[in-house]
Amino acid sequence: MNHQNFEAKLNELKAPKYRFQQAMRAYYKDFLGSWDDISTWPKDLRLECRSLAWSPLKLAETSPDLEFSSIKLLLETEDRHFIETVIIRHQDGRNTVCISSQVGCAMGCGFCATGTLGFTRNLSAEEIVDQVIQAARILNQQEAKVTNIVFMGMGEPFNNPDNVFETLRLLMHPDYFGLGARHISISTCGIIPGIQRLAKEAPQVNLAISLHAPDQLLRAQIMPVAKAYSLDKLMDAVKDYLKRTNRKVMFEYVMLNGVNDGLEQAEKLVKLLGPLKQLAHINLIKYHDTGTFKATDEKRRREFFEHIRKNGLSITQRVSFGEQIKAACGQLAGKNQS
Ligand code: SAH
Ligand code: SF4
Repeated sequence: MNHQNFEAKLNELKAPKYRFQQAMRAYYKDFLGSWDDISTWPKDLRLECRSLAWSPLKLAETSPDLEFSSIKLLLETEDRHFIETVIIRHQDGRNTVCISSQVGCAMGCGFCATGTLGFTRNLSAEEIVDQVIQAARILNQQEAKVTNIVFMGMGEPFNNPDNVFETLRLLMHPDYFGLGARHISISTCGIIPGIQRLAKEAPQVNLAISLHAPDQLLRAQIMPVAKAYSLDKLMDAVKDYLKRTNRKVMFEYVMLNGVNDGLEQAEKLVKLLGPLKQLAHINLIKYHDTGTFKATDEKRRREFFEHIRKNGLSITQRVSFGEQIKAACGQLAGKNQS
């Protein structure tokens, strides 16, 4: 919902100020579905507000069904673009919502389905927030709550910084969604100004870096962003971030067969991240087929993993959710299909 437009409407109608708080509660805390559902409101006020979007996104489809551990929402913007949001229901009771920050992405990483789509437009803060609210509405029906939010859907969050930082404010503010910063993570392919701004404006929000290669040459081959922000400069920015925040940074590393998954690369990764000591955590990700590369097999993945582990770095392998429903990382292409 657009707060400014709604406030202007209330002023125009000379409605009392508390109507604003009531609507915020209805949208951000009770997850009601429309203005009409605010049962404490007089009918004429509900009717007047109908001209404003309650949820700017329309839920076009959920798949595969609400009982699965991973639910993909296909959402349609008012200008008829499709974006995707994924709810991951973990066995320990946490529910993570993976949200999109753009329609498409301009960064063109070779292994990513969103990247091959190209860029259409930025999502507004209200559109990004609405993905969380729509997910919360579905979870609410199952008597469950959103416990974590990750910016790992479509788009590069730090290419849409103003709207992403406004989203963070709305998600964390106790009068709005009210989720703690430590339950929110932003993943970036390495846009340095965004990393610097995160350290200043939201230092408690978790940072994840999509690293995917341990040296500049290889990184630039699979991630064009490395040409604009080199690995050296990225590592300097991460060190600065660590100095300011003292928060652990997660490095994501998608395993591409014969490309970045040899012991030589594992050793380079140890050299690159070793100096960050306990403030670096590596997360190996299984490559979800998008047609361009092949996934590393289990044996090779194990060797890579062990080499890094025995050198004292903190490392995990991401359990993959949602591959069957094409809701896994890098498979989000926002097409109206399942
Ligand atoms: N643009 C941001 C956030 C969205 S991508 C970023 O790149 O970090 C979320 C994660 O999925 C990133 O780590 C990304 O590199 C990874 N990813 C992209 N394509 C993938 C694929 N085909 N298989 C597995 N992970 C992939
Ligand atoms: Fe964009 Fe991230 Fe995909 Fe790269 S991995 S193309 S930055 S969404």
